[in-house]
Amino acid sequence: MMFDFAIIGAGPAGSMAALQLAKLGYSVAVFEEHPSIGKPVRCAGLVSEHVIKMHNEGIINEIKGAVVVFPDGKEVVIGGDKTHAFVIDRYIFDASLAEKAMAAGAQYFLGRKIKKILEREYFEIEGIKARYIIGSDGPNSMVAERFNMGKIKFFNAIQGYGRYDVDEGFVKIFLSNEIAPGFFAWIIPAERARIGLATVKKNIRFYFNSFLKKIDAEVEEITAGLIPFGLRKLASKKVALAGDAAGQVKATSGGGIYAALMAASTLAKHAENFREYEKEYMVGVGKELKRCILIRKVLNKIGDRGLNKIAGIVEENIGLINKYGDIDYPSIVIKEILKRHPLKYTIQAMRIVG
Ligand SMILES: Cc1cc2nc3c(=O)[nH]c(=O)nc-3n(C[C@H](O)[C@H](O)[C@H](O)COP(=O)(O)OP(=O)(O)OC[C@H]3O[C@@H](n4cnc5c(N)ncnc54)[C@H](O)[C@@H]3O)c2cc1C
Repeated sequence: MMFDFAIIGAGPAGSMAALQLAKLGYSVAVFEEHPSIGKPVRCAGLVSEHVIKMHNEGIINEIKGAVVVFPDGKEVVIGGDKTHAFVIDRYIFDASLAEKAMAAGAQYFLGRKIKKILEREYFEIEGIKARYIIGSDGPNSMVAERFNMGKIKFFNAIQGYGRYDVDEGFVKIFLSNEIAPGFFAWIIPAERARIGLATVKKNIRFYFNSFLKKIDAEVEEITAGLIPFGLRKLASKKVALAGDAAGQVKATSGGGIYAALMAASTLAKHAENFREYEKEYMVGVGKELKRCILIRKVLNKIGDRGLNKIAGIVEENIGLINKYGDIDYPSIVIKEILKRHPLKYTIQAMRIVG
């Protein structure tokens, strides 16, 4: 059997690419290692309105704001005025997206973990031939490895579900290098709260257990996962990466669904011209992802003392944060703040960074 595109991995990136390409009339084969789509879930499921506009299935809660707990214990409330984000059921989200792609004509091969891709004048995967390959096979992408598309680093993440008394419409974020070195911990309100953390450290269970003890919570169905840090090469002539496989995740928050869906749509727009996909993506969403990497590096350099000082800047600029805050483009609000007080915050930033 010969297909135009073989897509490895049926997460949001793979299924959105399959949907868009099938709609354009291409023949698409999607390979997924698991026997069903969307499981196991390794995600907090917090997404923006941009995501919901692209695929609006599986919404279970609306988020109006965030309570940010700084290392010294100070709590700052952001938002509260309107819906800023949504909590989704990732299983429903992924499965319904795959169903749409199937309805558009994409053919899914489930329970097929791809280990080998042969390259002749076409590609060959388990007896199926394709003209182009899309690697949407998550952080440990075999496609990236097979076609030498670069190495990236990772944060380690862990999450469980538990009963925890939080305000329905607010996520709670804990910034502290004692709790989650190099990243943060979260509590996301849903029918069962999603409690988790990510860190640069390897012994994640130790940090997770300490965090659960600190907030006096118990969780079940614990899953661990990787959050990419850094971007891989996005494309060569006939092979492209999308989503976590490409490292398309915000290093500030670990959120990757928006970046993955945007990658898939841009890819489909430039089907058969993958280099144009890379170009367009890197002047748009990719640019923001690079900014997020820079912000993360600064946050990780300043340590807890620096983070405590940022609490003051956040409080002083709540109005701007509520107006310009966009979870998919965190650099926008930083620019707005700097635009209004360039000297004051440049001096403060220099002091914080040291
Ligand atoms: C704990 C945690 C919490 C997160 N919370 C959020 C959040 O709140 N909001 C947000 O936007 N993002 C979040 N993310 C990130 C988000 O989950 C990812 O960015 C998103 O899933 C990327 O989608 P994807 O399609 O690129 O990859 P994935 O969803 O990882 O899908 C890849 C698919 O490829 C399959 N696969 C892998 N290898 C093979 C192979 N060799 N053969 C066949 N199939 C294969 C996998 O089984 C999987 O189904 C979180 C991540 C973690 C770890």
